[in-house]
Amino acid sequence: MQGYIINITRVKDEDLIVTILTKESIKTAYRFYGARHSTIHLGYKIDFELLSSLKSTLPQLKSVMHLGEVWNAKREHMLLWQAFVRLFYQHLKEINTLDSFYFDLLQSCSTLWQKQNPKRVAIEAYTRLLAYEGRLHHAFVCFSCDEMIEEELTLVRGFLPAHKRCAWNQSFEPLHVKTLLEECSTILFEDSHIDHLWKIVLQGF
Ligand SMILES: [Zn+2]
Repeated sequence: MQGYIINITRVKDEDLIVTILTKESIKTAYRFYGARHSTIHLGYKIDFELLSSLKSTLPQLKSVMHLGEVWNAKREHMLLWQAFVRLFYQHLKEINTLDSFYFDLLQSCSTLWQKQNPKRVAIEAYTRLLAYEGRLHHAFVCFSCDEMIEEELTLVRGFLPAHKRCAWNQSFEPLHVKTLLEECSTILFEDSHIDHLWKIVLQGF
């Protein structure tokens, strides 16, 4: 089985509880400490097996192999990736069975992570996820005061449109936001705006 490690919790000394996003589900497994085990990190894509045990409610994580990407060795790329996959854990941890959309989305991001600005990749994926879940608001109506946004448009968590005066965020060009929400593309945004959008992404799906 293959999946992305979206959370690791250390328990007792060196044992770990590992949460893995696979194509169909979220798996939670126990990993006993062993010196001969390969090292695993948050965000890694792994091939693995689960061994159920009568003694524990959690299966044991076995035969782990890291399916590495070149950028896994790049600190900056890896830190951004770990922040990004953590959002999937927060969003999906209560759900047992999943559509393959989420795994496929992470997979496509992983492929692009080094070829493009990873923050752009994450922002576009965030928009695609919201669209997939039917949560994107295309009309420029302020989430806070319910009035049309004629000027000083900003976005908040979940890329909900808002007046700058209602949300106190960076304002964006309406056309840039429209392109983002309708085409899931950040092409019109400058890098400084990408940093603002990335901060919104980090607030969660
Ligand atoms: Zn408003």
